Order: sequence, then structure tokens, then C-alpha cells
Amino acid sequence: MTFDKPKMAIVGAGIGGLTLALSLLKSGYHVDVYEQAAELLELGAGVQLAPNGTRILRHLGLEDALLAGGAVEAAGKEVRIWNTGETWPLFDLGEDSVRRFGAPYWMIHRGDLHRELLSAVVKLAPGSVHTSHRLASFDQSGDGVTLHFANGVSVQADLMIGADGVHSVVRNALVGERKAEFTGIVAWRGMAPMNAIPESLRRNVGTNWIGPGGHCITYPVRGERLMNFVGLVERSDWVKESWVEEGTIEECQADFKEWHPHVHAIIENAGTPFRWALLQRSPLEKWTVGRVTLLGDACHPTLPFLAQGAIMALEDGIVLTRCLDAFEGDFEKAFDRYEQLRLPRTSAIVNGSRANIERFHNPLLAYHAAAVNYVETEWQPEKVRQRYDWLFEYDAMQVAI
Ligand code: FAD
Repeated sequence: MTFDKPKMAIVGAGIGGLTLALSLLKSGYHVDVYEQAAELLELGAGVQLAPNGTRILRHLGLEDALLAGGAVEAAGKEVRIWNTGETWPLFDLGEDSVRRFGAPYWMIHRGDLHRELLSAVVKLAPGSVHTSHRLASFDQSGDGVTLHFANGVSVQADLMIGADGVHSVVRNALVGERKAEFTGIVAWRGMAPMNAIPESLRRNVGTNWIGPGGHCITYPVRGERLMNFVGLVERSDWVKESWVEEGTIEECQADFKEWHPHVHAIIENAGTPFRWALLQRSPLEKWTVGRVTLLGDACHPTLPFLAQGAIMALEDGIVLTRCLDAFEGDFEKAFDRYEQLRLPRTSAIVNGSRANIERFHNPLLAYHAAAVNYVETEWQPEKVRQRYDWLFEYDAMQVAI
């Protein structure tokens, strides 16, 4: 490309901000990333990377580093009934994922993904990630954007992207604060050392335990040395949307009273669990104003019930880079096309995740015969394909710009 590439400022060095930075750097843009945290610390949580996400990470040249750094190529996923532990295959992954979707399905520790993204960015552009820079405000004119940070520093850029997560200050400034509704669901998370849990659980599969009013997701990460646990339960007394709030093992156990001993074996070994309240927000109608646009959770925060939140941020990064390249610096056209391409898909994912609450927590699951019948009906292979194939088939590198 020969056009004068705009100087890009990205707010937020999360998974989305770093993916965009890497993609832009590879396309020859000048990029600075501003992160509020003093240190980029590891959050103890897992991320499932479906083929629409791993395809991007491969494209960015990260496959070897991620596999060496602990990404687990999952053999499959299964559904289990909360109290009896009866099991149904959800889908095969491994070779089957590569054959059907052209890319594998990985399960990874968020810290491992974040570390590899950061290291790739810093390798290409040393000094481009600025920690201790919390964006306080910004203003834009015909010439550019000025970012003002809480530490007193101000900088200028041609274009700015708010990748500052669910509580985005950039989004609030662009389109106003978004009303969040409590779903009535609280999530627990933790990780158990694989060698501490029963041998029959030490398998390379993702499991979705479904029950009346709750569900649990477990899958291996970090080279199968840790079992990631997320337990979601309907209760109305905890409404804090935070990733760093500790609870107690006893309280987590009480929330899954009467669930299968395998669920309890993981909870007991997962150390002090963290908990947060799940809030939902309706999709935005628009997320660009002038020289500023948004990406990732800042513009389409979602419930985690399709495991696509981080992947949407990866897709955004690639599509935004391709739009900027395709319109050769005409940022208005590029941002417009980016929004046009990403809004319908991300809104469908946000709405689809919400629809899964009822599916995963159905009251029928309380009654054994009804539960078996329910799983056999709802998780029929054809229905599963309808729910997931459109997600996994999406190729951000090929979408027509
Ligand atoms: P974040 O990762 O939140 O990053 C935002 C960054 O911006 C942070 O580093 C923050 O410190 C920084 N920041 C914020 N404000 C400022 C400011 N004012 N100035 C400077 N910096 C700022 N997704 C999947 O794809 N698969 C899964 O299996 C999956 N499982 C999930 C399970 C759970 C329980 C949850 C809650 C989410 C899950 N997700 C999953 C979703 C995924 O984690 C998020 O969608 C993803 O992290 C969003 O990335 P992001 O970069 O947009 O935001």
C-alpha cells in the first residue's frame, strides 16, 4: 500500500486492543496502545477459541507460539446432566474441526493468549504499549484526536480506537452510557490442577454441565495441566460486574449443592474462586463518531454463553485493518464499512448468547426423564450445527470489504 497511513491510537491492551495492534503493525501502520494498568497481569480464566478465532491467530503467525505456550487442541465437547453425570457428545473437534472449518478448536489460559499477543506486538514495535495510561477524556477535530490521560499526559493521533472493554469510557463519550441489566446470574471461576482431580475427568474435552437454574463449563488449559471451571447460577444477591472479586469455596459449593461429585471435585481443588455478576446490554445501533471507533467488549459486550466474546474482538481487529487498507486512508469510508460489516454479526452473537440462558438452565432439567428427553431433543446434531456452524465458518480474512 502506498497511501499515507494514519497514526493510530488504541485505548486498552486487552485481547482486542493487542490483536488490532498486531494486525495494523503487520500492515505497516504506526500504532500506540495505551493501557490503564501499571502492569499487564494475568487473569486466571480460560478462553475457548473456536475455528473462527484460531484461523485469525494462525493468520497473525501465532500458532507455534500459542501451542508451545499451552493452548490445548480440544478433541471434542460434551453435554452432561448436572446430577447424574450422563453424557452426550456435543461435537467432535480435533481433526474434525480442521476438516469442517479449516482451523482447529483451542482451549487456552487467557494469560497465555495475552502474553503471546503482547510479545508479538512489542517485537514488531518496541515501546508501542504504554502502561499506566488511563484515558480520562479525548477531543477530536478535523485534523486528529487528542487523548488526555489521568497521569497528565496528552498525545495526538490521526485515529483512535476504543478497545477499553465493557466499561469503556470511549463508548460512553461517543454514544452515551449503555444501560446494563442484571441477568440474575452469578458466575464463579477457578482453575484446578489436573493432577488433583479424579482421573476420569483428566480428558481433553470441554464439558457443559447443564442443570435447572445453572450450568458449569470445564475444559483443560495450559498444556492440560489445569482444568478451567466456570459455574453459573441463578441468584439475585450479587450484582457486581468485576473480574477480581473473591468468594469462598464453601459459597461456591453451596451454589452447586446436589450437583455431581465430579463438579465438586473441581470446585474443591480450584483454590479461592472468583465471582462476578452477569450483566446484559442490548446491541448498539452505531459505534463510530468521526475519527473514533470501538472494538471488542467496548461495543458489543456479550454474555459468555456462545464463548465468542474474545473471538469477536479478534474478528473486529482483522476486519478493521482490512477496511483501512481497502479504503487507502479514507477513514470515514473505512470506519463506515467496518461498522456495517461487524454490527449485524456481533448483534446476532449477543442475542444468541442471551437465548442460551434458557437452554442451559431449563427447569425441565430438574426431572430425570424430562432432562434426558430435553438433552436429546435440544442437542440433536442438526440443531447443534444450526447453532454453531455460522459462528465457526466466518473467515475475517476473506469477508468481502
Ligand atoms: P478487555 O479484555 O476487557 O480489555 C480491555 C482493556 O482496556 C483492559 O486491559 C483494561 O485495563 C483497559 N482499559 C479499560 N479502561 C481503560 C482506560 N480508560 N484507559 C486505558 N485502558 C483502559 N470469549 C471467547 O471468545 N471465548 C470464551 O470462551 C470466553 N469465555 C468467557 C467466559 C467468561 C466467564 C467471560 C466473562 C467472558 C468470556 N469471554 C470469552 C469474553 C472475553 O473474555 C471478552 O469478550 C474479551 O476479553 C474482550 O476483549 P477486549 O479486548 O474487548 O476487552
